Amino acid sequence: IQWEKQVRNSAQIHRSGGMSVLVTGAAGFVGTHVSLALKKRGDGVVGLDNFNNYYDPSLKRARTSLLNSHGVFVVEGDLNDGKLLAKLFDVVAFTHVMHLAAQAGVRYAMENPNSYVHSNIAGLVTLLEVCKSAKPQPAIVWASSSSVYGLNDKVPFSESDRTDQPASLYAATKKAGEEITHTYNHIYGLSITGLRFFTVYGPWGRPDMAYFSFTRNILQGKPITIYRGKNRADLARDFTYIDDIVKGCLGSLDTSGESTGSGGKKTGNAPYRIFNLGNTSPVKVPELVNILERHLKVKAKRNIVDMPGNGDVPFTHANISHAQRALGYKPTTDLQTGLKKFVRWYLSYHGYNNRKGLQ
Ligand code: NAD
Repeated sequence: IQWEKQVRNSAQIHRSGGMSVLVTGAAGFVGTHVSLALKKRGDGVVGLDNFNNYYDPSLKRARTSLLNSHGVFVVEGDLNDGKLLAKLFDVVAFTHVMHLAAQAGVRYAMENPNSYVHSNIAGLVTLLEVCKSAKPQPAIVWASSSSVYGLNDKVPFSESDRTDQPASLYAATKKAGEEITHTYNHIYGLSITGLRFFTVYGPWGRPDMAYFSFTRNILQGKPITIYRGKNRADLARDFTYIDDIVKGCLGSLDTSGESTGSGGKKTGNAPYRIFNLGNTSPVKVPELVNILERHLKVKAKRNIVDMPGNGDVPFTHANISHAQRALGYKPTTDLQTGLKKFVRWYLSYHGYNNRKGLQ
């Protein structure tokens, strides 16, 4: 009963025409930022997260405290718990689902392949089954990934480019998610928007990602490993700042249209959309390190090695013209500025600000 009350309070809408959104993966990096942004503009938000230990769960708890302090309640549970999901939909008639829960990371898949199947495929299907039967059916916006472009080397990547060469199991499960959601769209009339995020970074970010682990190692005086690709070419990524991604997510929710199904049956033409959300200006990884060194005022100990065959692709670069036209998406933060904000957060979160020499 207590739990239901918290869910209802959290789902309350405080603006006219607002939405009630179930955010899966709310204790994650992107989920936290999206939940806060929705809450701040007056939408109702309920989070769901299983607090898995892929990376330090205390960071997920800290993000959740931040969410709680802004009135967002996060239910602890797994996507695969269909009963729990159905119960949530009994308590709140969600108009939208922002589906961000997933097993992320490309290298972890070598050791833990089944966690990708569990969260990114089985969990996705469980969620879609519940959405399909919900009345009203919510519109769904979910995180695919730039990794679906895989070994495609024609840049920049456009949504219609080939995605049939995934370079990792992670990428394969995201590609599978696109096919699965498309199926639920045309069979059951669910409104679906898939967002291919390009390397998202920023405050409250993910410790497994390079910009984060480089920062940690540089500050601790430990070496960092920089991969280079074929013919010693530097790897490059279209690093995209979290606030830009959040704007793309909100723009997607706002334009997602309605699901047209009813009681699990299709009745009309619900939209199925896919968008790149990137920054359109790739930066080579050694340049990322240079920027971090400048912000941290500490020299990195570089260990440059050939890229092992572990699922990383050599470069990414988004063509964002579709998102620009349909969502008004326009990234405004360059890597220099975004990393400055990340470093400021990192130092404060880890208590560095009181120490000498790192202001
Ligand atoms: P994250 O790992 O910080 O967040 C994902 C959250 O989902 C975590 O808090 C985790 O505990 C939760 N979760 C995982 N499996 C779950 C399950 N079965 N049930 C309930 N909760 C579960 O990752 P993120 O960087 O915030 O990524 C958000 C989404 O965006 C993911 O789908 C990810 O694949 C995608 N994406 C991220 C990036 C990026 O650069 N950060 C790039 C491309 C795509």
